[in-house]
Amino acid sequence: MDNVSFLDNKIFGIISEVAAEHGVRAFVIGGFVRDCFLGRPCKDIDVVVEGSGIEIAQKVAERVKSKVSVFKNFGTAMFRYCGLEIEFVGARKESYRANSRKPIVENGTLEDDQKRRDFTINALAFSLQKEDFGSLVDPFNGVKDLQAGLIRTPLDPDTTYSDDPLRMIRAIRFATQLSFTIVPESLESIRGNKQRLEILSRERISDELHKIMLSPKPSIGFRLLDETELLPLILPQLSRLKGVETQEGKGHKDNFSHTLQVLDNISCHTDNLWLRWAALLHDIGKPQTKKYEPGLGWTFHSHDFIGGKMVPAIFKQLKMPLNEKMKYVQKMVQLHLRPIALVQDEVTDSAVRRLLFDAGDDINDLMTLCEADITSKNDKIVRKHKDNFALVRQKLIEVEEKDRVRNFQNPISGELIMEKYKIAPCKEIGIIKEFVKNAILDGEIENDYEQAYALMEQKAAELGL
Ligand code: ATP
Repeated sequence: MDNVSFLDNKIFGIISEVAAEHGVRAFVIGGFVRDCFLGRPCKDIDVVVEGSGIEIAQKVAERVKSKVSVFKNFGTAMFRYCGLEIEFVGARKESYRANSRKPIVENGTLEDDQKRRDFTINALAFSLQKEDFGSLVDPFNGVKDLQAGLIRTPLDPDTTYSDDPLRMIRAIRFATQLSFTIVPESLESIRGNKQRLEILSRERISDELHKIMLSPKPSIGFRLLDETELLPLILPQLSRLKGVETQEGKGHKDNFSHTLQVLDNISCHTDNLWLRWAALLHDIGKPQTKKYEPGLGWTFHSHDFIGGKMVPAIFKQLKMPLNEKMKYVQKMVQLHLRPIALVQDEVTDSAVRRLLFDAGDDINDLMTLCEADITSKNDKIVRKHKDNFALVRQKLIEVEEKDRVRNFQNPISGELIMEKYKIAPCKEIGIIKEFVKNAILDGEIENDYEQAYALMEQKAAELGL
């Protein structure tokens, strides 16, 4: 495909005309150009103008009857056109101070603007001038790097990374999304500049982590974060999963590699970002609970419970939302061993009911996590575990059909107890509710109001109410 066909949308012709009328040069630059060569769809178009980006945006938007949004502080303006988001900016020259990733900005040429880009593959531009419409401006051989699958900075990597350390994580993010290789001098420079991370906001870092997590094979990113020594600065709890200890000739598996394998496994089955986070954190409690027990080997008792308790602090440290998403991840981590206990033939309905109750609507996600957690290299063992989980899924369906406990609501509410016995909030209310709930989950009574009411009366009498 020639470059002009990348620009066959008539908007590019209009921008070209308006820029010429105002005596300025305009170029399409960055991600859109990169994605044209990669054949990836891209709805965000960045246009750089050697002059006022805002003025040209306003004139073009007027011509196509679109509403323009102006961001004076950033010197940018954008409008939507046929499903595309088109952003205009004046070409800039940037210089940086040591303590901020916000540069001092001056007006510049296209060349200045390309130099301030993060990677050669992101510094490509198409000309929108009539005389050479669609011609590629590629001063740093970005297309060659695209073809070779390389992430390389246009300038000395130490300058690029130290100026704006977010680029270090962006490099790893692009390497992960595109399965590209970061060139060795860049990798070395990231390691050398790792302390510069401290000027970044945690929100920026977690935005990039989410993009790594949503890539086809997220382990690439976490291995690079580890290799460049950024990981202990971002997510030290994950770094602590690394390593194998041996006692009496017995080692345990490397929990870092295992975790990354689980993350890759689950990524083949779900695009749910938070389920992928649950996979990343499912064994996070292992280092704290690790013990060598002679005769038994390595144990990690209650790592599910401890791991779940660690989740809020991890979310907080990464400034991720402390809302129901966090609670979901926490729940998945805390429950991730429970389906395994249901594998035995003799499992009671009551154990199945309890899991359905605890997992609620997230039961299928939990099963997906458990299946991803099988990382044996022995195909026979993998098959056996998968078959076992298929049986657990079947049991879950049968019990749910019979007893409907998945979204179980205790028929006996606190208000009901307070009203009936004319009492204020007190611990007896909790005791009665728990008693009724357990009786239902254990199958002693049915999930039925009348039966639950009778049991409430019985327990209340015992408690002297
Ligand atoms: P994605 O849309 O997947 O986030 P992108 O690179 O296409 O990736 P943006 O992050 O919006 O989209 O960036 C647009 C362009 O701006 C990039 O292609 C790059 O040229 C430039 N850019 C973005 N962030 C930086 C940065 N921190 N330093 C230098 N250039 C940057």
